[in-house]
Amino acid sequence: MAGHSEHVRVAVIGSGFGGLGAAVRLRREGITDFVVLERRDSVGGTWRDNSYPGCACDVPSHLYSFSFAPNARWPRTFSGQPHIRDYLERVADTFGLRPHLRLRTEVTEARWDAGARHWRITTSRGELTADVVVSATGPLSDPKVPDVPGLDAFPGRVFHSSKWDHDFDLKGKRVAMVGTGASAIQIVPAIQPEVESLTVVQRTPPWVMPRMDRGISRAEQWLHAKVPATARARRGLLWLIREFQVGAFTKRPAMMRGAQAVAASHMRKTVKDPALRAKLTPDYRIGCKRILLSNEYYPALARPNTEVVASALKEVRGSTLVMADGTEREADAIVFGTGFHVTDMPIGERVFGADGRSLAEHWQGGMAALRGCAVDGFPNLLFVIGPNTGLGNSSMILVIESSLNYVAAYLRALDTTGAAALDARPEAVRSWNDEVQRRMTRTVWNTGGCVSWYLDDQGRNTTVWPGTTAEFRRATRRLDLQEYEIVPAGAPGERPERVEVAS
Ligand SMILES: Cc1cc2nc3c(=O)[nH]c(=O)nc-3n(C[C@H](O)[C@H](O)[C@H](O)COP(=O)(O)OP(=O)(O)OC[C@H]3O[C@@H](n4cnc5c(N)ncnc54)[C@H](O)[C@@H]3O)c2cc1C
Repeated sequence: MAGHSEHVRVAVIGSGFGGLGAAVRLRREGITDFVVLERRDSVGGTWRDNSYPGCACDVPSHLYSFSFAPNARWPRTFSGQPHIRDYLERVADTFGLRPHLRLRTEVTEARWDAGARHWRITTSRGELTADVVVSATGPLSDPKVPDVPGLDAFPGRVFHSSKWDHDFDLKGKRVAMVGTGASAIQIVPAIQPEVESLTVVQRTPPWVMPRMDRGISRAEQWLHAKVPATARARRGLLWLIREFQVGAFTKRPAMMRGAQAVAASHMRKTVKDPALRAKLTPDYRIGCKRILLSNEYYPALARPNTEVVASALKEVRGSTLVMADGTEREADAIVFGTGFHVTDMPIGERVFGADGRSLAEHWQGGMAALRGCAVDGFPNLLFVIGPNTGLGNSSMILVIESSLNYVAAYLRALDTTGAAALDARPEAVRSWNDEVQRRMTRTVWNTGGCVSWYLDDQGRNTTVWPGTTAEFRRATRRLDLQEYEIVPAGAPGERPERVEVAS
């Protein structure tokens, strides 16, 4: 990758489910002239980075896996991180993706070259150019740690849930777990038995539902291996149940009452102390924040060595943690389960479009992309898990595969039109986004009375898809050329003309 000598048809950024899925799809489309640029030293994305104790998926694995790469041998209904990571390694091998991988290669800048009509990509290992960039950098990939005064001078260990310090033995230590989101509620029961004391710093309590996890018997696994239709039927059923739930999230949040009653009863059964129960009872409607699943979280909180502090961490003074309510706790280690940069997608700072502005600047009023994939002014840039494609209750792999249908349709459109590039029309992006935001007004995410990581700092929901996965599949099945301006191919160095496609 020295100088600008390497040119590829497609550069994929990231090697999680999104990037590996893109690689498989490209090969299936007959495209082999592509690279997958990955900043770390192995594939797996989320499931490589998050190795904290207790890390597991909240969607059953027969649904949380690629439709084109079923795994009859999932050992549990909800798989743990090591199994999902292994699965992704196997996907890389089975589909012959290794030759395309450029590991330890971080994309530091991607700039659209309007003259040459391609992307100039700068990485930590050199430069390359690409006709098309597929960004699969992940919705939950860059950890977010709050800027707490005094944290730098804390004498103990500090780490984020996605960067677990496996060299640090928590045994007998006073540990503070900051945050009570999806990662934290898995970490708390996993470490509670070994630490001396556990302070759970809770700004807002989550709603927690029972987790229907069990081992998948050898007989079931055998059946799925011998009769693949049974695994497909299982996946289909898991998908259908979640599709039926979507209306309650998106159109009739009042229907969430039943689920809320189940969660409240789950807490009553496991937390006997009324004062603790009061602390743990959310004051917003279930579903507004991500619904969490655990059978062990509440029992761990009720143990004598655990304390829930219903306040935010305000300051650190030496080894003393000062809470917003003025109380203080001592700690030897602080674990941040405080989530990720979601509404301020970090790749946005590194990608520069046709007018030289960064995507982050372009998105100052809020992230938006046509069909979750394409952004006006950023020709031949496609997102896998772009704005408003997240799900509240189902598998992100469904969204990834839909986006990949769109990527494939896009590349075919480039071939059939002979264009150098397609650039989403601003009015197409606006109209798509207006409709998404119109639908959003009724959803539980916007009306449920909470502040969540789904919302940006202006209170706009730029992350979640307000519909079923089937609707998203239909919306991304084909590419409508009317939604694009065509940037024609031309002689090298010649500035391209933009051709309007008549509507
Ligand atoms: C702890 C945890 C649990 C989750 N559980 C669920 C669940 O139960 N169900 C569900 O549907 N979803 C879940 N998710 C969401 C999950 O992120 C998605 O389901 C999916 O794994 C995203 O895949 P991805 O490939 O888009 O992103 P990622 O898996 O995040 O992969 C992105 C990759 O891009 C690389 N990258 C980023 N920037 C650059 C750069 N500049 N240059 C080079 N490489 C770069 C990263 O290193 C990473 O490997 C969970 C997420 C987390 C963090």
